[in-house]
Amino acid sequence: MTSPAVKDDSMARQKELIGAYYKRLALAPSTGTKTVATFVPGNLTELIACFDLVPILPEINALQSGMRKLSGGYIGEAERQGHSEDVCTYVKCDIGMSEAGNIGPTGEKLPNPDLLLLSYTGCFTFMKWFELLRERYGCPSVMLHVPYQGAGRVTPEMKRYVVDQLRGVVIPALEKLSGRRFDIDLLREKLRLSAKAEDDLVAVWESGKHRPSPIDGYFGGVYYIGPIFTAFRGTSAGCEYYAMLRREIEERIREGRGPVTPDGDMKSERFRLVVEGPPNWTNFREFWKMFTDEDAVVVASTYTKVGGLYDRGFRHDPSDPLGTLAEYCMGCYTNLSLPERVKLISSYVEEYQADGFLINSVKSCASFSAGQLPILREVEKRTGRTGGFIESDLVDPRYFSAANLKNRIESYLQMVEQKRSAGAVA
Ligand code: SF4
Repeated sequence: MTSPAVKDDSMARQKELIGAYYKRLALAPSTGTKTVATFVPGNLTELIACFDLVPILPEINALQSGMRKLSGGYIGEAERQGHSEDVCTYVKCDIGMSEAGNIGPTGEKLPNPDLLLLSYTGCFTFMKWFELLRERYGCPSVMLHVPYQGAGRVTPEMKRYVVDQLRGVVIPALEKLSGRRFDIDLLREKLRLSAKAEDDLVAVWESGKHRPSPIDGYFGGVYYIGPIFTAFRGTSAGCEYYAMLRREIEERIREGRGPVTPDGDMKSERFRLVVEGPPNWTNFREFWKMFTDEDAVVVASTYTKVGGLYDRGFRHDPSDPLGTLAEYCMGCYTNLSLPERVKLISSYVEEYQADGFLINSVKSCASFSAGQLPILREVEKRTGRTGGFIESDLVDPRYFSAANLKNRIESYLQMVEQKRSAGAVA
């Protein structure tokens, strides 16, 4: 990812880690390393790593292409092949990228996947996407069916259902691909490291409750989730990164400093916001600056929780290795019902003392966008805080209208200001 202008040490380390991950992928054909394509929500990183396999994460590749301004061309190529304008642009970006030679963010060719592992967490597009990749690469595919949390909770039956599939379907497929036997103690060890990194990441998220917030929990947050959402959960390198990040943030709190922004440290905090929905990647810095120019900081966001709601208490648990993976998959944000999402966003608004909350509705992602207007109304009703609604896309540059967005964000913040002043007078 492109980094902001002023860097903390953790940002350089983050870049190194992601670079090393892509390097390992690029070298996979020559080192004989096998790869498993899988998605971020509900990923089984620790389990995959037990077999010395490396994950390929198509959404991460797509967002990287978006940040490098390559996604528009890739999407155009996929549409020329007949993919409709309505299809999720991550999918079209991925298809276009593979047509263009599958060159990854380090400029090296990414390997074809040896296995498609679909943890099905709430998005139907995941399934259609892997059907396309199965045709393209002709590799085997495995599906872990993850029950939807319709009633807002995980029952023992749901958990058993997922664990049985891990035992009976997923692990045998990984054993077959790697030629290794499953070692449950190795998985326990990796899960122990996961929980350690998750503790540190939660301390970073919770720092957004301070005034001024030392972090931006959305724009800055996407850098923080890079390692834990890709290949570094359950690794010592991941633990070291999150310990380093936590130390830096704690130092910012001690010094009363605001978060890193594209223009250096934020000097004053006028607005504290909660944001729902993924960011736009094609104009990421420009989008971020629309907030920092108004001294608006995002104190908490839902997007940074798509790979795990650790701040609500979940930790990978080494004492129940397969059960904890099942619970993790079912607890992902994309697998939550609308009432649960409303509850989560409302609790963020209250706990982080936000002045308002803003929904960035991305055209591509029905998983996020469906129900966002009722969510907006309900969160407004529960919290009494001003809600706002803007629209963009993940990686399709045709849906990023800078002037329009800037205008909407400025008007929204004026509304927040008016309501705040009225509240102060009343
Ligand atoms: S629709 Fe949303 S959740 Fe589904 S693949 Fe696209 S971006 Fe991901």
